[in-house]
Amino acid sequence: MDLFNEMVTWRRHLHQYPELSYEEYGTTDYIIQQLNSLPHVKIFHGKELVGTSTGLIAVIGDGTKRGIGLRADIDALPIVEDHICEYRSKHNGIMHACGHDGHTAMLIGAIHKLSALFQNGQLTGNVTCIFQPAEEATDDNGRTGAEYMIESSLIKQLDMIMALHLDPTLPLGQVKLTTGPVMANVDTFSMMIHAKGGHGGYPEQTNDPIWLLSLLLPALYSMPGRRFSPMEPTICSIGQITTGTSANVIPSQVKLEGTCRTYSEEAREFMEQQLQQICDSLSSYGGVTQLRYMKGEPQLNNDKDVVREIKKSIQQINPHVEIHQIPYGMGGEDFSHFTKRMKGAFLFIGAKKEEHIDTTLHHPSFDFDEKALLFGMNTLVQFVINQLRSDTNGT
Ligand SMILES: [Zn+2]
Ligand SMILES: [Zn+2]
Repeated sequence: MDLFNEMVTWRRHLHQYPELSYEEYGTTDYIIQQLNSLPHVKIFHGKELVGTSTGLIAVIGDGTKRGIGLRADIDALPIVEDHICEYRSKHNGIMHACGHDGHTAMLIGAIHKLSALFQNGQLTGNVTCIFQPAEEATDDNGRTGAEYMIESSLIKQLDMIMALHLDPTLPLGQVKLTTGPVMANVDTFSMMIHAKGGHGGYPEQTNDPIWLLSLLLPALYSMPGRRFSPMEPTICSIGQITTGTSANVIPSQVKLEGTCRTYSEEAREFMEQQLQQICDSLSSYGGVTQLRYMKGEPQLNNDKDVVREIKKSIQQINPHVEIHQIPYGMGGEDFSHFTKRMKGAFLFIGAKKEEHIDTTLHHPSFDFDEKALLFGMNTLVQFVINQLRSDTNGT
């Protein structure tokens, strides 16, 4: 079987047996099985070595050169798959709806190819391949997989790292890749409005927190457009409001939860201050509003040197690839923890399945064109070849 067909087999197996964040034990075993017999490949797993109980790190090479990192995420989502296909999920309520099955298959494929190149003496150096668990969700400590793995001594020494993500809305032969901030700071917040409840027929005897909420909401929704420059991407969205027990009882408190997205550290700090100011403004109405602002994944910052190297690799594989040099939007990606510590870059590769019109990431009918696996795997391999060969040549 050629490598493309093998990647399809791996991807389809992983798609059928998806596992949630921090529970990827079967996935980890499956990846190890596909790598075990390869020459020049050393496998590390277990919390002590890689920082997490699931996931693994495969190191290819001799350890004599500086380290190049490649990262794939391996977890799935709590989604019931609504897509009829022969490789449909066999784990009810869990689905690879973000393409991490594809990312994993591409990295396994890249290791196969790199192992052969080392075996033939065509490369010298070291490649650290990270199969990272829990990109999609945090544990009880509020941390995703990348935050634990970056503490591993196998990763700390890396000079450069790259990762890619499939994009089911972008046609094959196109990529999104640019320098600088490309994905957002992902923060969450909660506001607790404490006031005075009572009889729904006698509101004058209460201090109605739902009325206070109705004053707060317009301020929250209009604030980004009035306090931030239109050149500064900002979002403040409310996702959950919890209150009340009955139609005729005014409750005594309201809980509101939401997410804030920003691109810079300054905007992030300012956003928190603005939320605090809005909370404080309710005190003149007698309510007490407590704000909890929780900083999540930091902004993902693409290093210009790594972007240049990835571009070069892509153009060597296919000179006709269309490169969209634009930021990727207000989503988050925990690969940002890596790019905070070392030079790195992240790109989206087109994987749109033409007959599959209505799909996005995290959609129950998500699927992608498997031809993208070959392009993605070749990009990873070419990126490594360029780094390790240029080292050899002393450039
Ligand atoms: Zn996702
Ligand atoms: Zn993803």
